[in-house]
Amino acid sequence: MTRPYNFSAGPATMPEAVLQQAAAEMLDWHGSGMGVMEMSHRGKEFISIYEQAEADLRELLAVPAHYKILFMQGGGLAENAIVPLNLSRGQPMDFVLTGSWSQKSAKEAQKYGQARTAASGQASQFTTLPAPGTWQLGRDASYVHLCSNETIHGVEFQELPDLKALGCDAPLVIDFSSNVLSRPVDWNRVGLAFGGAQKNIGPAGVTLVVVREDLIGHALPICPSAFDYKLVADNGSMYNTPPTYGIYMAGLIFQWLKAQREGDKTGVAAMEARNTAKAALLYDFLDQSAFYENRVAKDCRSRMNIPFFLKDESRNDAFLDGAKARGLLQLKGHKSVGGMRASLYNALPIEGVQALVDYLREFERTQA
Ligand code: PMP
Repeated sequence: MTRPYNFSAGPATMPEAVLQQAAAEMLDWHGSGMGVMEMSHRGKEFISIYEQAEADLRELLAVPAHYKILFMQGGGLAENAIVPLNLSRGQPMDFVLTGSWSQKSAKEAQKYGQARTAASGQASQFTTLPAPGTWQLGRDASYVHLCSNETIHGVEFQELPDLKALGCDAPLVIDFSSNVLSRPVDWNRVGLAFGGAQKNIGPAGVTLVVVREDLIGHALPICPSAFDYKLVADNGSMYNTPPTYGIYMAGLIFQWLKAQREGDKTGVAAMEARNTAKAALLYDFLDQSAFYENRVAKDCRSRMNIPFFLKDESRNDAFLDGAKARGLLQLKGHKSVGGMRASLYNALPIEGVQALVDYLREFERTQA
């Protein structure tokens, strides 16, 4: 029996093979007599799980040697505080506001310093991205923050800005919670990237931080020790107990990703090709329909989170009930935007998108 297709924005669907493997290893990991949840984080078994996960992630995302990979706790929202605590050095911070998540980041940073708005997509209700050439970047900015994929509004940077080309020497910080590992990252343009795991990586509870070494070691005195990147990095993410089971699950996902093939592509490149095809399938259907609509400008549409609306919203409940009956789960839009949202993360196969499109077509026909 195939499982239903799960379009949740996060926590989100995981590859079935990974869930099966975790189930098989639940009581006894590799003959150790222990489940992963029962292991000391300092024992050789867990250290081997950790090191493999880190190495696989470094390979998948092509993270250069002078960047540290940290597995932390607290989620994306905690990083909204942890980043300014570590990177601001008492200087202002510039934010590009492109939706709810970057707005939240700016608001939180304001607690620890001066968070300025460099640009905002609010005038278009976050259906467009402000062009980098128009951003007001201050010379004294300690860093520039953007959200590479806005999970709620469904806008995604198709290319990260080259701040140097814009005359800005500050490092770029990206919140890639909802598009991490869905496409490659150009590390020449990024000083720090952070994201919660519960969308494209694994279960909630792990927060991934990839940070250039020279940005570490400048935390404000008020920064909690457990959130000081230097202490975390110097202790191999084990200054305090890391989210061990979540790291193990993330590691299984990394192995799964490395084994994915699409034509002559593997790993993240294969996922990018697949995600491009998946998103095109759904957008193309929505665009030709008079019954549904997606309001995001074509050049900044997310491949991961696709908000859409029934033009007649009185049919929303019937739509969702019918979807659920067909094994198409968690399509309800975020409460702040309304309508529907389909999240097409790495683990959601193209067959799931096809099943959704078939249902969209059928529902439209039966309502005519
Ligand atoms: N940033 C983005 C882009 C997100 O999508 C989310 C969660 N939906 C967050 C931050 C917040 O993450 P968390 O709930 O893990 O703190």
